[in-house]
Amino acid sequence: MQNVAMLGLGIMGSGMAENLLKAGFALSVYNRTRAKAEPFAAKGARIAPTPRQAAEGADVILSMVGDDNASRAVWLGADGALAGAKPGSILIEVSTLSPDWIRELAKLAADRGLEFLESPVTGSKQAAATANLRLFIGGDPAVLDKARPVLQAISNDIVHIGPMGSGAIWKLINNMMSAVHVAALSEGLALAERAGLDMEKVAQLIPISPSASPMVKMKLDRMMAHNYEGTDFSLKWMTKDVNYALELAKAVKSPVPTAAAVYEIYKQARAQGLDDSDVASLVETVRK
Ligand code: NAP
Repeated sequence: MQNVAMLGLGIMGSGMAENLLKAGFALSVYNRTRAKAEPFAAKGARIAPTPRQAAEGADVILSMVGDDNASRAVWLGADGALAGAKPGSILIEVSTLSPDWIRELAKLAADRGLEFLESPVTGSKQAAATANLRLFIGGDPAVLDKARPVLQAISNDIVHIGPMGSGAIWKLINNMMSAVHVAALSEGLALAERAGLDMEKVAQLIPISPSASPMVKMKLDRMMAHNYEGTDFSLKWMTKDVNYALELAKAVKSPVPTAAAVYEIYKQARAQGLDDSDVASLVETVRK
């Protein structure tokens, strides 16, 4: 079986690491805040003090961190995973990142004789914990075949979407649309409250309305209950995704006025201290 390294043990990375261990892979783990890595020692993982040390000896190295800056921090530099990766190992970025950085990282890997795939995911905390993620692979299908046993341990659907960068592009489009859905639900609920509707009836009607996307259904209960604890997906990372999507839209000259307007509400929510709350907390900014 392949030796695997997991960089990043946040909401998503921790669930993936659990499933890699359950599948029987020898696993080394790295997390910037070491305390989040400690529980994995008792489960059989080797805790590494740097990404480089986590990567040493691994056949497959996965990274699941916040944004482009975090990804740069774990892959690059003297203590970065690129410096520790052995020739022929497969690097897989599963974080939601910009296509520009993904392509740059792919080139840095290739220059060192390393294989690289991007694999952004859909499915949130629960899907990561239960190995039910959907993966969007960009890169060489032959490399995907070699990495498949590891990817199957964290997912229930693997989609090869195209050349390097395609996964990031699709993931950003997906999250840009999801961010709009969360904002639409926030405004609909706040308006219903202000206009004096019976909110119990509204809560029953939203899931059976034509506007009830999976995202709307997923966030309705939290918004109704004002419950943003035990974050599934943080507001700050959704804001990051909208920002990357706006940059992409600008680069390819495709107008996204709705997403641009929604981005302003997310920035306001961040300024109100909602960074680490579940993204459903956007409704509190609208309510204010
Ligand atoms: P999270 O719980 O906030 O975890 C973020 C991880 O990134 C942590 O391990 C964190 O380390 C690390 N990190 C952040 N900045 C860093 C830096 N500068 N240097 C090194 N490490 C850094 O977030 P998450 O929900 O797991 O999300 C991770 C990625 O998956 C994001 O790209 C997100 O957009 C994407 N995603 C999330 C979901 C979801 O529903 N949660 C679904 C699909 C995709 P510390 O512990 O030290 O802070």
